[in-house]
Amino acid sequence: MDSLHLSPRLSAVASYVPENARLADIGSDHGYLPANLLINNKINFAVIGEVASGPLANARHELSRRGLLVKTILRLADGLSAIKPQDAIDTVVIAGMGGMLITTILNASLAKHNQYKTLILQPNTDEDAVRKWLIEHNYKIENESIVQEDKHFYEVIVATPGESQLTDDDVFFGPFLRLEKSSAFVLKWQKELSRIHLILDKLNQADKNKTPIFSEWENKYAKIQEEIS
Ligand code: SAM
Repeated sequence: MDSLHLSPRLSAVASYVPENARLADIGSDHGYLPANLLINNKINFAVIGEVASGPLANARHELSRRGLLVKTILRLADGLSAIKPQDAIDTVVIAGMGGMLITTILNASLAKHNQYKTLILQPNTDEDAVRKWLIEHNYKIENESIVQEDKHFYEVIVATPGESQLTDDDVFFGPFLRLEKSSAFVLKWQKELSRIHLILDKLNQADKNKTPIFSEWENKYAKIQEEIS
């Protein structure tokens, strides 16, 4: 992967960035996403935020070799503190991190009462926690996709300000993903069923099939099976 050839995961993220967005890519690392969007003239300006100096240097190198430094501001900063009011950012991407870290980053900015026009979030884990955060903080899920790369499945969640009423199953599986039921969605949850099967086997072998934890896993198994059957 490089800025001319994004991975399927980052391509999915890029596809949701509105034309001419003023973008902040938080936790950008290599900077491939903003570089790609700038190269393709989809956007004209990006803030690149990184909490670590090594990745920020990677991003600076990538933007520099593509001649794009003039269209970007790179800041060493924790989470959304990379964004300044004068940047007039309307679209925030937080991709390639655990869902809990994404919610921590979003929570840290709550005191400033910033609401962005578009959030594009790509949690690697705990996608349900991200959806829960969004609906609890007046964001409406506008779109979702799921992408497979090798053995991994990545969900992309797009949100805009607004209210939504999601069921627990919507939060767990993703309201758009469960409607679409793509092959990647089914494969992801089949993989999860196999994992839970192993856990239940181990609990059984340890004579723990009458415990609350066994029932919890059993219920989760049944819920997933019902969803994809
Ligand atoms: N966003 C890129 C992608 O999706 O390919 C890079 C993902 S990389 C696995 C995660 C990056 O997030 C790392 O470079 C890490 O330094 C950065 N990061 C982690 N916590 C952060 C925070 N609180 N604020 C800004 N960047 C953070």
